[in-house]
Amino acid sequence: MGKFKTVNELVNSLKPDYPVYCIRLNEIKKSVKFFRENFPGKILYAVKTNPNEKIIKQIINNGINEFDVASLNEIKLIKKIKSDSKLHFMHTIKSKESISSAYFDYGVKSFSLDSKDELRKILDATNRAKDLELFVRIAISNEHAEIDLSRKFGALPSEALGLVRLCKDHSRKIGISFHVGSQCMHKISYSKGIREIGNIIKKTKIVPDTINVGGGFPSVYPDLNPEPLINYMDEIKKELKNLKLNKLPEIICEPGRSLVAESGSTIIKVILRKKNNLYINDGTYGSLFDAGAPNFVLPSKMITSGRAHSKKLTAFSFFGPTCDGLDYMKGPFLLPNNIKEGDYIELGQLGAYSLTFRTNFNGFYSNEIHELSDKPIISMYDNTNDKVGSLVA
Ligand SMILES: *Cc1c(COP(=O)(O)O)cnc(C)c1O
Repeated sequence: MGKFKTVNELVNSLKPDYPVYCIRLNEIKKSVKFFRENFPGKILYAVKTNPNEKIIKQIINNGINEFDVASLNEIKLIKKIKSDSKLHFMHTIKSKESISSAYFDYGVKSFSLDSKDELRKILDATNRAKDLELFVRIAISNEHAEIDLSRKFGALPSEALGLVRLCKDHSRKIGISFHVGSQCMHKISYSKGIREIGNIIKKTKIVPDTINVGGGFPSVYPDLNPEPLINYMDEIKKELKNLKLNKLPEIICEPGRSLVAESGSTIIKVILRKKNNLYINDGTYGSLFDAGAPNFVLPSKMITSGRAHSKKLTAFSFFGPTCDGLDYMKGPFLLPNNIKEGDYIELGQLGAYSLTFRTNFNGFYSNEIHELSDKPIISMYDNTNDKVGSLVA
């Protein structure tokens, strides 16, 4: 891993013929600081979003010591980096073997579930341990999210009541959690989740030890410009107050995207131009999965290295390097009209759900990762009104 001041410096010195992934550690410092100052509780980082070791270490160095993990390998990874960190196995569907190993080999006590059968598995696999912290994940609408998780996870209100009662009998601490879906564009989804928890408290007369409002906090993209994150925090605080509980439970969240999206970008090279389609050297089987079927529009910036670029911006679509037609990214990606074969482009907001998605398909795989200290193309943590910077470098 090399260090460069700017994207230009990196491209001029490497002239890379392969995609290069950039990490801006300073952006993580900003996002973690924002959450620590404004979220009314504890912050867990959702490891799946970006398990790169540099990223995890930066998150730890800025004061986060608890993690949302979903597999044994994620558990091993975090324990290797920091053995005393607290892990929460928040995948609601786990194999018995992984539950057992998490508990007995790695000391994980905190598990999430959304069905009776999963509760039974957890109890069996831990030999009916007496020190469990069990989270019941309830289903809530993901209507304002770009990535919907609600069909796959979550107990319906009718099942949730029974589950909360059962967990109360079988655990040392009980939590209730929800996930509004990823890149949630409206704060109201959090209020709805908290209100739903309020209903469960009323009906069961059980006040959980922990309320977990999950992840889903948005980042910013050219066509997805959410209201300021501080409004989400205010909304959550207001709704928690509305629960009118004598003593508020511990509150936790598990952000992924909003903590790390701004910290990553990919530098790609144009292999061929066909009208408004650019064939590039990375794609949906590389770091650009989210630009494929989920159709995230990424901020794009031509790296001119002194070459004259036209002022006129044109909307381009991208094709990735593999032989698969699905390796297509619709965009629109706005770039100078005279872009051509051999030019470099930086694509931003790729710190989340990107590096970790790379495959070896068709032999295209790059593991070139470098650190940068310049600013990302767009940012929602910078204190300027203008979230979008210049589209050329
Ligand atoms: C993926 C995931 C998260 C993180 O979601 P973001 O939308 O990236 O914030 C948090 N909690 C759980 C249980 C998840 O599966």
